[in-house]
Amino acid sequence: ATPTALMVGTGRGAQLGILIKGPEVLESTRRVDTVVLDKTGTVTTGRMSLREVVPTPGEDADEVLRIATLLEDGSDHPVARAIVAAGRDAGIAAAPVEDFASVDGLGVQGVVEGRAVVVGRPRLLADWSLDLGPELEEALRGALATGATPVAIGWDGRARGVLTVADTVKPTSAQAISRLRELGLTPWLLTGDNAEAARAVAAEVGIDADHVVADVLPADKVDVVRRLQDEGAVVAMVGDGVNDAAALATADLGLAMGTGTDVAIEASDLTLVRGDLRVAPDAIRLARRTLSTIK
Ligand code: ADP
Ligand code: MG
Repeated sequence: ATPTALMVGTGRGAQLGILIKGPEVLESTRRVDTVVLDKTGTVTTGRMSLREVVPTPGEDADEVLRIATLLEDGSDHPVARAIVAAGRDAGIAAAPVEDFASVDGLGVQGVVEGRAVVVGRPRLLADWSLDLGPELEEALRGALATGATPVAIGWDGRARGVLTVADTVKPTSAQAISRLRELGLTPWLLTGDNAEAARAVAAEVGIDADHVVADVLPADKVDVVRRLQDEGAVVAMVGDGVNDAAALATADLGLAMGTGTDVAIEASDLTLVRGDLRVAPDAIRLARRTLSTIK
């Protein structure tokens, strides 16, 4: 009877839009008491749009958008897609980029029209010894205060502007998180994005401000999961990106958004087929019910 009940649980999961790697996954699902949620692409749509371009004094906003678009064409990151979409709308055609490189969790760099260009977090521009100056610092602060994500751009040894993108919270996220709470689980928000943007999203979906971990580099996401486990938590991680894969694999239960990358899906125990976060509490309820039938 035991394997049959597990098979039924797995079959019911498929109906709910949950792909379960194996029947044994239900046991770890049942024990989970903490849920760590990636922000971009998991709690938010990950479809960012460009809100504002602030050039450094003496620089031209159209040129800032043009160079950023040419470089970001090589990146799949939501920030890059927002910039490129705005650039295409402004009629900017693609051009070749040499020595393109993504710097994990920080931004991109490459050679565009013979200029060495960098786009990303202010920290990345600092690595290039590019000083933002008071106007761009002010633009960054203003954007951060609204919960948006500003990135800086520089080329030829100077910072040239700030491009601000903003994401939207999925309409189902707040409900999903309140259902996780009803099941007795503690939600955390984990992101490589800035603390202000993370806190704004947390407030919108009902995650406590002291359960927000921001500015986390991709390689360090797994450490946040381990720390919670060391404190005795049984952790489910929900993510969508390549940068979540190690954390998904280390968590007691990994849940991938079906809308996410293959790497994230492979690292996970469960896949939420439609990318609807409300299926996470469904999965936990299903596991508890299936296993209590067996016992
Ligand atoms: P998350 O953990 O929320 O999914 P990431 O770790 O992927 O975020 O990215 C963290 C931050 O790094 C972004 O918010 C952005 O500031 C910067 N970044 C990453 N990739 C790019 C890119 N292609 N262009 C500009 N900025 C980027
Ligand atoms: Mg993500």
